[in-house]
Amino acid sequence: MIKPPSSNVRRTDWPTSTSRPVVTPLQPSVVYASPDPDALDRQYTEGTGFTYAREGHPNAEVLAAKIDRLEGAPDLFKPAGVITGSGMAAISAAFLGCLNSGDHVLGGDQLYGRTLRLMRFDLPRLGIETSFADPTDVAAMRDAIRPNTKMIVVEVISNPTIRVADMEGIAALARETGALFVVDNTFTTPRLYQPFLHGADIVIHSVTKLLAGHSDATLGYIAAKDPAIRDAIALANATWGFTPSPFDCWLAERGVHTFDLRFDRAQSNAAKLADALATSPGVKRVIYPTRPDHPDHNRAMSILGGQGGNMFSFELNGGRAAANAFTRAAPEVAFAPTLGDVGTTLSHPASSSHRALTPEARAALGISEGFFRVSVGVEDPGLLISELVAAANAVA
Ligand SMILES: *Cc1c(COP(=O)(O)O)cnc(C)c1O
Repeated sequence: MIKPPSSNVRRTDWPTSTSRPVVTPLQPSVVYASPDPDALDRQYTEGTGFTYAREGHPNAEVLAAKIDRLEGAPDLFKPAGVITGSGMAAISAAFLGCLNSGDHVLGGDQLYGRTLRLMRFDLPRLGIETSFADPTDVAAMRDAIRPNTKMIVVEVISNPTIRVADMEGIAALARETGALFVVDNTFTTPRLYQPFLHGADIVIHSVTKLLAGHSDATLGYIAAKDPAIRDAIALANATWGFTPSPFDCWLAERGVHTFDLRFDRAQSNAAKLADALATSPGVKRVIYPTRPDHPDHNRAMSILGGQGGNMFSFELNGGRAAANAFTRAAPEVAFAPTLGDVGTTLSHPASSSHRALTPEARAALGISEGFFRVSVGVEDPGLLISELVAAANAVA
């Protein structure tokens, strides 16, 4: 009997070429072979070379460097960013890398839903105190500072009510109290705001959203100004296992290449769409930072440089029935609880992100059954506006 040939598991050399690929190669290798134990020693002590993908890999490094540039980070310090397996992993790495039992974290009171959950329920299980205050009111933030406040976490624009935080006031408060100032810059993106240039110690992104931009990769980014803090975060990332998939990093790098073009188009669409909906009969109010009727209009104009971003919210006259009618009347616009996709998406906080709140608690935030948040995409503006204005008119 003839034995079947054994499969050849010996590694073969990569074909040599005098030219190099134009596209970043995708490198899924989990492990890296070193020449000898001395070389491996040097890799660990000098931090040169990859060993095991959970500890770091080329596709994550390439992506981190690109986001560092967007955030103005390499001009300030090096190395800056770390890529994580999700935006929540980046937030978790900030907490797990920087805090000890007995510390206190002060958060903005309208952070991303999962961040609120992590702070309300999970950090206290680890002996870390948390509390929340209104980031548009620096006096309220100051009143919430405790002797053990180690960290302040805010988002520049709140979700879904699109309020603009007093970033300068909070940066000064953090400096004064010695707390680490952590900014989740997902909504604003470096195109609207660069937190490191305004006093942030740590900047976080859900890369899943606008930076990757195509709803096909789940990733996060976290960078810190202080190299010791950056190392503590990178260590937490590797130890708690938050490291990203090379393939997601590779996809996200491709998204980052067009981020500024997509953002500018989406922002221009958002401003036009917000104005068009504001004058539609079915619409009670529109919340967009550059509109003069926005509650933080002056602050938004100064800190966001006269830009409003790609996100806005609006409220329909009429409750849940009007909301159902609206989404059915605009079937081309995805009714899906995410943001930052190339296509426009609608979310309805009362049935998704804010469903756990009582109707009274939602009303206190200004979130009724007719309230929608819109993440505006890069579609043809005329088409987009006509679809959504027609849907609002259908409801009216
Ligand atoms: C989506 C989001 C997150 C979480 O990111 P994931 O990639 O979904 O884990 C954190 N902060 C903000 C502001 C977000 O929009």
